[in-house]
Amino acid sequence: MSLSQVASSIPTSPTIALNEEARLLREKGEPVIHLGIGEPKNKTPITAILSSAAKLGSGDVKYVPTDGTPSLKKAIVRYSEENYDRVVAPQNIIVSDGAKQSLFNILFTLCNPQDEVIIVAPYWVSYPEIIKMIGANPVIVIPEDGSFLPSFGEIERVVGSYTKAIIINSPNNPSGLVYPEELISKLVEMCESKGIYMICDDIYHKLVFDGKVAVPACKFTKKDVENSKIILVNGVAKLYGMTGFRVGWVIAPKKLVDIMTNVQSQTTTCVSPVMQAAAEGALNGMQSIVESLRLSIQNNRDVLMQELHSFTDVRCIKPEGTFYALPDFKAYCRNSVANNSVELCQFLLKKALVVTVPGKEFGAEGHLRMSYAGTIKELTEGVERMKWALDPNAPSEIYIGDRKLIRDWL
Ligand code: PMP
Repeated sequence: MSLSQVASSIPTSPTIALNEEARLLREKGEPVIHLGIGEPKNKTPITAILSSAAKLGSGDVKYVPTDGTPSLKKAIVRYSEENYDRVVAPQNIIVSDGAKQSLFNILFTLCNPQDEVIIVAPYWVSYPEIIKMIGANPVIVIPEDGSFLPSFGEIERVVGSYTKAIIINSPNNPSGLVYPEELISKLVEMCESKGIYMICDDIYHKLVFDGKVAVPACKFTKKDVENSKIILVNGVAKLYGMTGFRVGWVIAPKKLVDIMTNVQSQTTTCVSPVMQAAAEGALNGMQSIVESLRLSIQNNRDVLMQELHSFTDVRCIKPEGTFYALPDFKAYCRNSVANNSVELCQFLLKKALVVTVPGKEFGAEGHLRMSYAGTIKELTEGVERMKWALDPNAPSEIYIGDRKLIRDWL
């Protein structure tokens, strides 16, 4: 059978594959702890529920404008003014089925085959795959000093005549780091002077800890949205814990929005008006929901850091935002247990029933991505099980569910 080479080369999203594996194990009654999942556990904000229920109750659920309902766009205009101090017109906005589709639309609209898009390691797993899917080439910048932060020089060095765009995700999935203001401002200057698009994936922008702020790129431009090279991506998935609603949006010059709208009109037509009503409810509702989520996640981050601290040979840079950490497990990737992060994750799932995501998928081999969006109990128990499975200094006996297990492999 001859199939598309491009489509056939796209791997399953590793995080989605792991979710499925964990779901199947749980279905069998296994006490799996999921530290891989990228979604908060909070209930949907009530204003989102009521607003989508009202739309559903109206019985008038039909096609709506491809680029988004006027009322959701109005809420996004206000959100941009309040959070970005940026004047945005409705024609600068397109709403899509999650920020993932937003990113696909942007890259499909910007790139010709062979164009290059710069991404910085560690990066979100889907960036390189979407870039490859649309026939462009990902150019990955790996910080030479082994840190999770590239220097401006390292990025500038890979810019060439094919460079179309750079994707910046701060706070960053998977490292949890917030890029320094100085780096963002230099990147804006570089993009504007070289005519490169700066795609800012701001999906975690308010989940920042310890009083830090993820300074938006638009702070460093004098250009308005219409003339700017900055393209902003955002959505309700992470800040409001509304991952299943699938609503994201892009703010960009009208010409780009128009082309993205044509693309979307030929693929998904529009986002369901029920889901758009939910997003509108979240954006127009009490914003203290985001703040309480942020505070509980910050607390979880502190608990995770404390737990990892007593894990022999594990080092972890303290996350400044998101709900991920990317601890260094290299010491456990070169022994009889595992040779790399993929094998280590498999081992942890098999022996300790704990889901983590291999750093390799994010361009950070030797690391594991751990999510602390769940409960404190899951975090402490999850790390305890990981220690039991890997750390010779940890007690060799453990209870997992109602089974008493004895470690006999170290
Ligand atoms: N960007 C980043 C960095 C993400 O982590 C995710 C979700 N994991 C997305 C975009 C996609 O968000 P959505 O669920 O709105 O498609």
